Amino acid sequence: MENEGTGEEMPEPRSADSVRVAVRVRPFSQREKNSGRRCVVSMHSQSTTIQDPKNGEHLKTFTFDLAYWSHDGYQKDKDGILIPSNPNSKFAGQIHVFHDIGRGILDSAWRGYNATLLAYGQTGSGKSYSMIGFGTNKGIIPRVCEELFQAIKTQKENIELQVMFSMLEIYNEQIRDLLSRTKTPGGLKVREDPQLGFFVEGLKWVPCENYAQIEKLMEQGSKIRMTASTSMNASSSRSHMVITIQFKQIFLDTALTKQSSINMVDLAGSERQKSSGAEGDRLREGSRVNLSLTSLGNVISALADSAMGKKVLHIPYRDSVLTKLLQSALGGNSRTTLIAAISPADICYEETLSTLRYAERTKKVQNKAVINTC
Ligand code: ADP
Ligand code: MG
Repeated sequence: MENEGTGEEMPEPRSADSVRVAVRVRPFSQREKNSGRRCVVSMHSQSTTIQDPKNGEHLKTFTFDLAYWSHDGYQKDKDGILIPSNPNSKFAGQIHVFHDIGRGILDSAWRGYNATLLAYGQTGSGKSYSMIGFGTNKGIIPRVCEELFQAIKTQKENIELQVMFSMLEIYNEQIRDLLSRTKTPGGLKVREDPQLGFFVEGLKWVPCENYAQIEKLMEQGSKIRMTASTSMNASSSRSHMVITIQFKQIFLDTALTKQSSINMVDLAGSERQKSSGAEGDRLREGSRVNLSLTSLGNVISALADSAMGKKVLHIPYRDSVLTKLLQSALGGNSRTTLIAAISPADICYEETLSTLRYAERTKKVQNKAVINTC
């Protein structure tokens, strides 16, 4: 990993960076296999094509920065390892994805850039698998944390390094601290600081010294998230989870500091909320969840239009909790990557197409990341 440890370099001039977009198709589930679902997605190097499930015609081809295939149709190679039978497809496991995306986040962190990673897609498309993972198939977030501490161990003595960790959930436009068992009625509030921008008032920040600590916090946080959603008779797929790491390097010789804020967001399922049949609380919840995701879409569209040269007077960051918290991640001071998670199955094709279109718009967003030094 690249790691400039001197702290003497000058901040780079402001430069525009496009949001990086990766698309990842999950494999078929056993249920989909048993019910004979057809695959409507294909990938050839960086391009992703979606077919019309009715006649197999190519509907549209998208090109993103990264494309990951994890579909079945595997065969064993000479070492007994499963590889995709389709030689054109690029099978990607968790390590591979971490290598491409997580390493970039770590590189940004050491250089003093803010970094943001967003996972977008319908429920069941593999967002949490990519971000958190399951069991030993660890996702990007735990791997980033693990490698950060591995690198910290090898640092020179004249640098002080600080890692602070927070984990929250946005549900129904209310913020719940996932590291605290105290429930704040109405949720925590977003405040605005003229210098720092939007922040969550009263959010718990835990200083961490090793990966084991973070692993434990993530476990606790996930439990609180599950319990909370069960008690409200809701699904955690309707909430957004935001994990933030504040990484600070203090160079003791020069008293210079470099700071990086890493946001990693497992977004709520992007599927359209069905209004029919939903009543009372559930209806309100549906529309409220939509508010944050819809606002995110509006912010992205406005930024994409502006990047394409259209005159845009207003970027609606203030419309929702999520867009306030992601203000610098989109169009601001951050190196941002979006993972568009999709299903390969014919029945999901409408949502898949909508996710790919969303990702295409997001790719146009230009950020202005700068090294944070003081
Ligand atoms: P989401 O968070 O988008 O609702 P999940 O991450 O929970 O979806 O994924 C749904 C299911 O698909 C899980 O059982 C998960 O293990 C599996 N899955 C998703 N992506 C992959 C992948 N790339 N490789 C293997 N299994 C995957
Ligand atoms: Mg999930």
